[in-house]
Amino acid sequence: MTQTLGFVGLGQMGMPIARRLLAAGHRVLAFDLREEARALLEAAGGEWAASPRAIADRCAIVLVSLPTPQAVEAVTFGPEGLVHGWELRVFVDLSTTGPAAAQKIAAGLAERGAVAMDAPVSGGVAGAEQGTLAVMVSGPRERFVELRPVFECFGANLFYVGERPGMGHLMKLINNLLSTTALAATYEALSVGVKAGLDPKTMLDVLAVSSGTNHAIEIKIPKYVMKNIPIGFSLDLSYKDVSLAVQAGEALCGPMRMGRVTQQIWQEAMHTGGPKQDYLQVVKVFEDWAGVRWSGTPDANGPV
Ligand code: NAD
Repeated sequence: MTQTLGFVGLGQMGMPIARRLLAAGHRVLAFDLREEARALLEAAGGEWAASPRAIADRCAIVLVSLPTPQAVEAVTFGPEGLVHGWELRVFVDLSTTGPAAAQKIAAGLAERGAVAMDAPVSGGVAGAEQGTLAVMVSGPRERFVELRPVFECFGANLFYVGERPGMGHLMKLINNLLSTTALAATYEALSVGVKAGLDPKTMLDVLAVSSGTNHAIEIKIPKYVMKNIPIGFSLDLSYKDVSLAVQAGEALCGPMRMGRVTQQIWQEAMHTGGPKQDYLQVVKVFEDWAGVRWSGTPDANGPV
């Protein structure tokens, strides 16, 4: 069944997700602070709204894909926020915002008779475009069942991880903490090898079929880093994810030894290369440390 869906946040992830909802036959009423998103939305068949409130006046289900927990709170509870709309019944947060914000937002929405669903995603811009995202959902199970056809428009792997608000967001932070920490460790190891004279392409080939392999070795480095192609995720947002993961982990268990190291490395990269660079550019921290340059060398030992 197709329906009219609200959508706030048409950035690197939000725009391709909204396009897939439109392509599946849904009507999408959307808003973003960037006016330039309007033409792209309308070209895909979507309708522009004047504010989040205007969306929630017409849509029972509203999805958001926003950069930070603060942005999600502003869109939800601000003067022109979703809570002031007449129709809002289900709020779906696709952003990475962490469990603390999710719990606060769910409590605020419950007071207005609306339900909040965590639905953070993994798989990057390519996954959003191709509809292959992993979606980590928490909230009332019956709402998950109801929303499944919507999630299937952009997600190939749907996981229901719990009833409580924040469970989906915690699952997402655990994924991102692991993926960033593995990326840093991989950059460090490869830079050591290059310094010693090993060929980066040969190292990737060896590691991809050995016990040291990970997603950085199989996908991120050969497809993006070696070719200097941006993956479409900014360093400041990745830093936000690592910081939220450390914050959540420390609240639950005490000092996060590994997470803190990754957080420091991401901070260093923001200081030297700026917050808006692609997050894979953390490679520069390790290249500078080792005094080597191997990113952007797709032809090392033949084409990658
Ligand atoms: P982005 O910065 O490209 O997009 C965010 C969009 O939200 C922008 O268009 C911005 O104008 C809009 N926005 C910000 N504040 C707003 C407000 N108050 N009202 C309306 N619009 C507002 O970010 P992105 O890369 O698309 O990421 C979105 C979320 O998804 C983040 O939480 C991110 O951590 C998460 N995420 C990103 C990726 C990725 O690879 N890019 C992957 C998985 C999850």
